[in-house]
Amino acid sequence: MEKFKLSLQLTHNAIEVLKRRYLKKDEEGKIIETPEELFHRVATAIAQIDAIYGKSEKDVNKTKEEFYELMTTLKFLPNSPTLMNAGTPLGQLSACFVLPVEDSMEGIFDAVKYAAIIHKSGGGTGFSFSRLRPKGDVVGSTKGISSGPVSFMSVFDSATEAVKQGGRRRGANMGLLRVDHPDIVEFIKCKDDLTKFTNFNISVGLTEEFMKAVINDEEYDLINPRTLQTVKRLKAKEVFDLIVHQAWKNGEPGIVFLDRINATNPTPELGEIEATNPCGEQPLLPYESCNLGSINLAKMVRNNTVDWEVLRSTVWKAVHFLDNVIDANRYPLEIIEKNTKANRKIGLGVMGWADMLVQLKIPYNSKEALSLAEELMKFILQEGRNASQELAKERGTFPNYPKSIYYGKMPLRNATITTVAPTGTLSIIAGCSSGIEPLFAICFARNVMDGTRLVEVNSYFRKEMEKLGLWSDALAEKIAETGSIQEIKEIPEEIKKIFVTAHEISPSEHIRMQAAFQQYVDNAVSKTVNLPNHATEEDVREVYLLAYRLGCKGVTVYRDGSRQGQVIQKTKTE
Ligand code: UDP
Repeated sequence: MEKFKLSLQLTHNAIEVLKRRYLKKDEEGKIIETPEELFHRVATAIAQIDAIYGKSEKDVNKTKEEFYELMTTLKFLPNSPTLMNAGTPLGQLSACFVLPVEDSMEGIFDAVKYAAIIHKSGGGTGFSFSRLRPKGDVVGSTKGISSGPVSFMSVFDSATEAVKQGGRRRGANMGLLRVDHPDIVEFIKCKDDLTKFTNFNISVGLTEEFMKAVINDEEYDLINPRTLQTVKRLKAKEVFDLIVHQAWKNGEPGIVFLDRINATNPTPELGEIEATNPCGEQPLLPYESCNLGSINLAKMVRNNTVDWEVLRSTVWKAVHFLDNVIDANRYPLEIIEKNTKANRKIGLGVMGWADMLVQLKIPYNSKEALSLAEELMKFILQEGRNASQELAKERGTFPNYPKSIYYGKMPLRNATITTVAPTGTLSIIAGCSSGIEPLFAICFARNVMDGTRLVEVNSYFRKEMEKLGLWSDALAEKIAETGSIQEIKEIPEEIKKIFVTAHEISPSEHIRMQAAFQQYVDNAVSKTVNLPNHATEEDVREVYLLAYRLGCKGVTVYRDGSRQGQVIQKTKTE
C-alpha cells in the first residue's frame, strides 16, 4: 500500500453509502476495509488481468496504480457490482443481464432461477416476455389454457422479493412486451395496482410498423407468438394513448424502440435484441451481460474549460479497465460467460454532466449545452474506439468480430463501447450530479433511511454565492422549500440561468439532451424526463413522439408526485 498515498475526498453521503453496502464486512457484519482499501482491492483484481495478456509484474503494478488513481480521484468509477465484488470470492462484476424467457414451463422457471442467482450477486435482469403464448391460449400437454405473460411476471416478482432480503442491493428487473403481443393491453395496465410488480420496471417494445400506424392513425396486428397468426387488430393510436395515460398516471410503462435498437445491433447475425437491462440503457442479446463504468465529468474541467487531454487519458484507461473486468468477472452461468466473452461489450458513460455545465457557466437548457453534449460524447466514443482498437492489436478482436457490422472496417476489442447509465449510487459515491440529468434541486431535504431530514446544498452554487457575498444558511433553508432559486429576488439573474433544475427545463429540452448524447452512444442513454405535477397527457405524448423523431432508443417520464415514496423529495411540492 505504501505507493498509494493519495488522499481520498469523499462526502459524508458517500462514506455512508460505502459503509452500508460496499465495504467488506466479516461474518458478524463488522466493516473490515476502508474506502482506500476498497479501491485498492478493486484496482488489484482488475489490473491483475494484464498478466494473462503477457504483461510483466512491473507493468501490472503500473496498471494497478493507474486504476487506483482513476477511482480515488473520482474521475471514473466502475458499476456497483465491480466495486462490491472485485477481489472477493463472489467476484460477479456486471450490473446488466438479459435472460430469455422461453414459452415452456421449464423455460420460464429456469429464467426465474437464473434471475435469482444474478440478483444475489448484485446484477439486474431484463426479460422479454414476448415469446410467451397469450392468456387463454392452449397448452398442449394438459389441454388446459395458458395464464399468459403478465401472470408469469408475478412469479419473477415474488422470487425477486424473496432474494432481496439476502442481497446487498435489491434485485431489479425490466419486463418488456412487444406492442404486437395479444396481451399488450393487460401488460400496459399491469402496474395499476401499485402493490404489484414492485420489483419491475416495465417497458413496451414499439416497432416501426406500430409507430407508422400511430402516425397514420391505422390499425395494426396482434400476433400470437406460438402460432404466428394474427389474432386481433387494434387501433395503434388507442394503444399509444393508453401507454401515454398510464405513464402520465404513474411513470410507467416506459417505451423502447425495438427496431431502432436492432438497427444498431453490432452482431445481427447472432440474433435479435429483445430486451434491455432494468434501467433501459443496455440492450443485450439473450444470456448476455455487460459491465458499465462512468467518467465523472465534474472532474474534467480546468481553468473554466473542458480538459480534453485529461478526458482522453481517462477514456483510454477506462476502456482498458472495463475490458479487464470481462476477464476478471465470475459469471453466474456458463452460457452467460460464453456469450459475454464472445462480444466483450462494455458500457462506458458519464456522470456529473450538470456539474460540468455549471462550472462552465452554460445553462443546461441552451443550444450551447446541446452542442457541447454532442462534441463531448463524440470525443468519448471516438477515443473509446481508438483505445478498443489498440487493445485489439494486443489482445485480439472480440471473437464474434467476423460476424459483426465492424468486420473489415474497424477491428475492435469490444462490440459496444458506450452506454449512459443512471449512476444512481455511483454519483453519490463520486459526489456529483447523476448521469446526464440536470440538477434536481439547488438545496433540498433528503429523507434518510431512519426518517430524519437533511438539507443539502449544491457546492458549486454555494461557492458562487459566497464569492458574491450573498451566502447564508437562511438562504439555503429558503431554497430547500422548493429546491429552486428562480423566484428568489436576491439571487442575480446570471446565477439563475446557470443553476436551473429539472423542473425548470422543458420536457422537449430534456429529450433534446438525451438525443444529443444518443447520437454517439452505441447502447442507450438512461434519462428521466421530469414533468411537473400539472403536466398533461398531451405533454407526455409530445415527449414520446419527439423522442421517436430525434432518434432516442427509449424514453422514461416521471411526473412529480405521481408515485408514492419518492426517495428524494423537495420539502414542498407544487
Ligand atoms: N441495478 C440493479 N439494482 C439496483 C440498481 C441498479 O440491478 O438497485 C443495475 C441495473 O441493471 C441498472 C444498472 O445497474 O440499469 C445501472 O444502474 P446505476 O447506474 O444506477 O447503478 P450504480 O452503478 O450507480 O449503482
